[in-house]
Amino acid sequence: MSGKKERNKERREKRLQEISLLRTIPYSDHQRWWSQETVAVVTGANRGIGFEIARQLAGHGLTVILTSRNISVGIEATKALQEGGFSYDVHQLDILDGESISAFVEWIKQKYGGIDILVNNAGVNYNLGFDNSVEFARQVVDTNYYGTKNMIKAMIPVMKPSAAGARIVNISSRLGRLNGRRNRIQDATLREKLTNLEILSEELIDRTVSSFLQQVEDETWQSGGWPQTFTDYSVSKLAVNAYTRLVAKELCDRPQGEKIYINCYCPGWVKTAMTGWAGNISPEVAADTGVWLALLSDQAITGKFFAERREINF
Ligand code: NAP
Repeated sequence: MSGKKERNKERREKRLQEISLLRTIPYSDHQRWWSQETVAVVTGANRGIGFEIARQLAGHGLTVILTSRNISVGIEATKALQEGGFSYDVHQLDILDGESISAFVEWIKQKYGGIDILVNNAGVNYNLGFDNSVEFARQVVDTNYYGTKNMIKAMIPVMKPSAAGARIVNISSRLGRLNGRRNRIQDATLREKLTNLEILSEELIDRTVSSFLQQVEDETWQSGGWPQTFTDYSVSKLAVNAYTRLVAKELCDRPQGEKIYINCYCPGWVKTAMTGWAGNISPEVAADTGVWLALLSDQAITGKFFAERREINF
């Protein structure tokens, strides 16, 4: 291994050790803005990182609603968690199905009146190599970007007003960084437009992903200047990141007491079904930054991108 790679590995391992330590420090009464009345919804919570985020949030004393597109699988997952004695509920939710989302919102209103935290975890990747899962590109973009956007739009109206503010956490990926050294969109003008909050719009993000999908259909995507590895997945997460910043900007003028904070994070390379269990960290560690962002106290952080509890550049 080269000296630089070795140093990066050491730095990462040190940071993961620091996080293991941070996770053992309990939240003080002063930091705990939440109670068992605080409701957190996690999408795609029947397995992997979502399951673990649900488990950790309930362990901190919130009421957690596990959602799963297959309700029987969701019920089984909930049963496994309930053995720990914490507060869970479960509901069917397919983030690509408008009717499923509407039914979920209605159920939330009836049963809980609203929610405090939304964790957009559900996602897909069909790419175990480094290329572009051409056949599934549309499904990847639809689920990871449009599905997440569907949920944000549907849930904002049912987010409860509170002194601490409601929270949205989007699980994204470093692969979707706009201005990373590697794996970025080649077109500097497009990068600048997507980076500049004065110019950034939902229409621009949608147009960018549509243009990618059109090129996939036309079989011209390879010369389109898109991220070089995991192309469809990277484009989908790039869109999630840009949309996170845009929504943060749109929400930032809400008055105190009605604030909603929205951030995204990269969980790292995780041992879940998505990576064929080939990742280098456990779902437990991967869930940490998501849980930390959902529970942040005394800090009004919004529109930011994190990894291992540290802010990183988009
Ligand atoms: P996973 O084990 O494959 O879990 C994905 C979850 O998303 C499953 O519960 C799946 O449901 C659900 N899902 C997929 N499409 C859905 C839909 N249309 N509606 C509702 N739920 C849907 O993967 P994971 O590793 O835990 O990934 C969780 C999140 O972390 C994803 O957003 C992923 O992109 C992100 N992430 C993962 C890694 C990694 O290394 N694993 C790295 C960076 C980011 P089913 O069980 O029904 O399929």
